[in-house]
Amino acid sequence: MLTIVCGHCGYVLYEGNELKMLNEVVREYANVCPKCGKTLKPSAQNIRILRGK
Ligand SMILES: [Zn+2]
Repeated sequence: MLTIVCGHCGYVLYEGNELKMLNEVVREYANVCPKCGKTLKPSAQNIRILRGK
């Protein structure tokens, strides 16, 4: 399971088993977090990737 969350507020941007490109995920949200309204960039400072089972 792959979870990609907003690095600012923890909003779950993507959750699933498919490996996704970060820039694809942020583009789906027009580079803005729908919860906190901050700009999302496909980088470790802006987005957190959690891996688990
Ligand atoms: Zn956010």
